[in-house]
Amino acid sequence: MLFGRSHKNPVKIADKGVVEWKYAVCGYCSTGCSIEVGLNAEGRPVTSRGVADADVNRGKLCLKGIFEHELFDSAGRGTVPLMRDHWHDEWATTDWDTALDRLHDEIRRIQGQYGRDSFAIISTGQMLTEEFYTLGKLTRGLIGTNNYDGNTTLCMASAVSGYKRSFGSDGPPGCYEDFEHTDCLIAWGSNLPEQHPIIYWRLKEAMEKRRFPLIVVDPRVTMLAQFADIHLPITPGTDVVLQNALMHVILAEGLEDRDYIEANTTGIDELRAEVAKYDPTTASRICGIDEDTIRLVARTFARAPAAMQIWTMGINQSTHGSDGVVGINNLSLITGNIGKPGGTSLSITGQCNAMGTREWSSCSGLPNYRLLENPEDRKEIAEFWGIDEEFFPKKRGLFQTDIYHAIEAGQIKGLWLIATNPMSSLPNSARVRKAMEKLEFCCVQDCYQDSESAQYAHVFLPAGTWAEKEGVMTNTERRINVVKPVTQPPGEAKPDLWIFNQVAKRFNSDGKVKFPETAPEIFLEMASISKGRLADISGMNHELLEEKRGVQWPYTEEQAKKGEEPPRGGKRLYTEPRTFRHPDGRARLIPLPFIDNNEVPDEKYPIWLNTGRLIEHWHGRTKTGKIGNNNKYSPIPFIEINPDLCAEMGIRRGDYVRLVSRRSDAIVMAQPTQRVPRNMVFLPFHFHDCANRLTLGLLDPHSRQPAYKQSAVRIEILEDQIEAARLSKEMRAF
Ligand code: SF4
Repeated sequence: MLFGRSHKNPVKIADKGVVEWKYAVCGYCSTGCSIEVGLNAEGRPVTSRGVADADVNRGKLCLKGIFEHELFDSAGRGTVPLMRDHWHDEWATTDWDTALDRLHDEIRRIQGQYGRDSFAIISTGQMLTEEFYTLGKLTRGLIGTNNYDGNTTLCMASAVSGYKRSFGSDGPPGCYEDFEHTDCLIAWGSNLPEQHPIIYWRLKEAMEKRRFPLIVVDPRVTMLAQFADIHLPITPGTDVVLQNALMHVILAEGLEDRDYIEANTTGIDELRAEVAKYDPTTASRICGIDEDTIRLVARTFARAPAAMQIWTMGINQSTHGSDGVVGINNLSLITGNIGKPGGTSLSITGQCNAMGTREWSSCSGLPNYRLLENPEDRKEIAEFWGIDEEFFPKKRGLFQTDIYHAIEAGQIKGLWLIATNPMSSLPNSARVRKAMEKLEFCCVQDCYQDSESAQYAHVFLPAGTWAEKEGVMTNTERRINVVKPVTQPPGEAKPDLWIFNQVAKRFNSDGKVKFPETAPEIFLEMASISKGRLADISGMNHELLEEKRGVQWPYTEEQAKKGEEPPRGGKRLYTEPRTFRHPDGRARLIPLPFIDNNEVPDEKYPIWLNTGRLIEHWHGRTKTGKIGNNNKYSPIPFIEINPDLCAEMGIRRGDYVRLVSRRSDAIVMAQPTQRVPRNMVFLPFHFHDCANRLTLGLLDPHSRQPAYKQSAVRIEILEDQIEAARLSKEMRAF
């Protein structure tokens, strides 16, 4: 018998006939991987590969990125504008002018009849930054509704709110390179290997080179928890209690960094008084982590020369989401772990350009973190755009989650949805459905015409997707990278930027407000109003971004003029003393009393429902559900369920069961696993008409983000498995 490589069949990668590679940055998650799409001789995208000299992903892509080129001709793409009188009528095709005129006329009719804010606009974290900026200018500068938000309220609003409360501004202070310098990492509600696989690979590589403790806080034994040195299976919704207990130990044992606190923060006395109430013994009864482990983690974190924390939706999607972020920041601040290599609090962002919308969309204010509440910011932008500053509202309007309540109450009558699908992504979908049915007018602008929300539209505008367009995105570590058009939108579909510019023409008949037409021109306009601000991008342009495979902000005009190269590794915020964005330059230490205001399991609904993501799918599966190589891994809605609970209830692997919450019910397949405890099920939220039939619409008081991750259900056995399979298949029809 022969052994050895020379006698094995060599692995052959099929020759796809690529004649040209085009550069882009991945359009799924916020990791920001540089990607090249291969075109064949007919100009068709046939393959994708990671870019080897890109600092973020160094040639790698995850399962979603590898098949991203298959998006372009996936099923359900919109190719022509559509219109109808009532949302339940049949669609009729139309031309762009007719569709855009109708959108303009309906906005002005509704505003004229019910007031300026009776028309709402909701966008996304999926578009390109120049598109966000243009939409913001159109909405704030010409249309004039204050009820304008993005679907980023569903994923990152708590991070934004927490950063603002602690540091005086949004903007994650750390970078991926911090993994290479840290001596201790706490991951709060973040399952990197499945949610952000390439960031996980950066972490894993750093840990292989230089061992440091990894502590994972998560009620579920996630993939990251399996690799942890310490896993804290916390009781859902009690992160603030654990954070207070950790700070209790640190302050009681004198492990804090007094010099840093003295020089850079305010509020230590108030914080000390609050955390004094959370001794480990008391806290352990609430958060479910034993007191010795609390002490061990507190000491390990505080004694590390550099310690960092990351978090994702496990913190953000809670009624205490914003407080959870402030708690993380408090821990970093009292131990002097902000602005130094390996010492940071780094939110791991969700959507590919959620950061771009935070920086430039004007949803929560005005461009580049300017505030509607600040008269100087209003004046500066009004002058720059050429509008009357009194046209701006003096405070932000409703968040996305409150806009639906206002529709329900009859205060909002019209809605323009852009690249978002609330029928799938908002909690308590039965309530959202009723709100959508009440609208007098709804326009859906999306690359897919078969989204659930398009059912309620009167006008459908077919848009380009991802690399059918040109523009930039900002990733989790504030790195801006550029997307080049790989191909054209199908049929008569148009890039979102083109659509916004055409709508702007209809509201800007005197041409007073200038709307540059191309993404590179718009980028230069944005750069010019970024000078001297936290997110200063004045030294960048599209060419530089492609050449460097992304550049982190800030990178200023002065740096560029001096010939200073953008740093290749990592760049941090708040590296100098008292440079936080509160007026006195100090960060705020904010006491966090814990109020248990969430739904918890009881006799009628005895099981925790935990929701989250799978590596192969993206959000509502609008994209990945149509890509065979992604969809095949999990085409059926399922729950992770503990084998002991299965044995007790007589549930076998593969059985369909019914989950029932106070809102509604859903049919899912049972997958027994020890990853969840006996009193919890985990349900991936990707499937249409499933998780969000059950989830609770409770909102965080600061960020208005929903508590998707904590609610209560009961499990019912289904005798007729054939009928259950049929019903489950019906749910997957989208
Ligand atoms: Fe795309 Fe995120 Fe995967 Fe990178 S990790 S390839 S950015 S989905």
